[in-house]
Amino acid sequence: MDPKKELIFDLSLTDLEDRLKLLGEPGFRAKQIWVAVYQHFRSSPEEITTLPKGLRSKLADAFDFQSLEPIREIASEDGLTIKTLFRLRDGHPVEAVLMYYEDRRTLCISSQSGCAVGCSFCATGQMGFKRHLTSGEIIDQVLYYARRLAQTDERVTNVVVMGMGEPFLNYEPVLEALNRLNHPDALGLGARRFTISTVGIVPKIIQFADEGTQYNLAISLHTVDDDLRSSLIPVNKKYPVDDIIRACRYYVQKTSRRVTFEYALIQGVNDSAADAEALAGKLRGMICHVNLIPLNPTSGFAQNPTSAEQAQAFCEILESHNIPCTVRLRRGIEIQAGCGQLAADFEKNS
Ligand code: SAH
Ligand code: SF4
Repeated sequence: MDPKKELIFDLSLTDLEDRLKLLGEPGFRAKQIWVAVYQHFRSSPEEITTLPKGLRSKLADAFDFQSLEPIREIASEDGLTIKTLFRLRDGHPVEAVLMYYEDRRTLCISSQSGCAVGCSFCATGQMGFKRHLTSGEIIDQVLYYARRLAQTDERVTNVVVMGMGEPFLNYEPVLEALNRLNHPDALGLGARRFTISTVGIVPKIIQFADEGTQYNLAISLHTVDDDLRSSLIPVNKKYPVDDIIRACRYYVQKTSRRVTFEYALIQGVNDSAADAEALAGKLRGMICHVNLIPLNPTSGFAQNPTSAEQAQAFCEILESHNIPCTVRLRRGIEIQAGCGQLAADFEKNS
């Protein structure tokens, strides 16, 4: 790793062609390099034996092929969730999680180191903001796991931008990363395999709807009561519930894709029958899905998760209003696979 060098994954195909021309190399080499790193998962120029030796050493001098140093890894007891804490080239922490679901291999990746939004229940929020990730650093999290899965002839099937950070406060790099991973000359993962989760940055939801991509959108709603939401999620004062819902209806109208709403169930806070009715009222008529996730306990938030029975009851109320709903298993809770939990620990102890 050499932070003074340009990270190869930060470059679009055209950028790479231009850089190669400056190095006195033909532009067509760019595609060859892309195939090597994104399809054959080569992690250094030396490994790209399809290239002439001279070019390999020029690449090694000009570019960095690694932006993440794995420093800690933990797997859940059943081995179905693996979480890796990385150090970026400047030392900041970032984390990614691989989840095995039947034939799916879903990766949860980060868009920022830390987060400035400061949601009270979230370990990343409790840690504060470090910095934005570049598109290449976002891509590198996927490549790290893609390389590992390739060793057992497996591939990444889905990517959710649901790790550390608020993706819509780092909009361009996130979109660039997804576009690059989706590109047929790169990883070629289908657009519908990607999901971006946002706390509800309204102008960016509208911009995202206007992009014309097929990426999925998830909104972390958690309650439709503005006072409560503002106390949990400070940015709600700027982008209140009705504005978010309106932007989501616009997204559905523009893209014909359903929106997923994330709802962390906190005992005695947002999990009553009345809360479920109020949520159903706001979502009436929208093509959507609600994911109910019992709160993942974090050290900085003294509240408890809703019981499984009450989560089920909440779900049934939504279903009685024809709103599709799932109670999500709290996967990897014993390995602190909740958003930012591992990195927050690392920050505290280092
Ligand atoms: N910033 C984005 C994406 C990262 S957070 C967002 O907020 O959507 C990913 C998801 O984890 C969000 O739905 C967030 O609300 C949720 N989350 C964070 N901390 C949690 C906790 N302690 N328990 C349950 N869900 C949590
Ligand atoms: Fe940031 Fe999302 Fe955590 Fe809120 S829930 S602090 S927006 S990462």
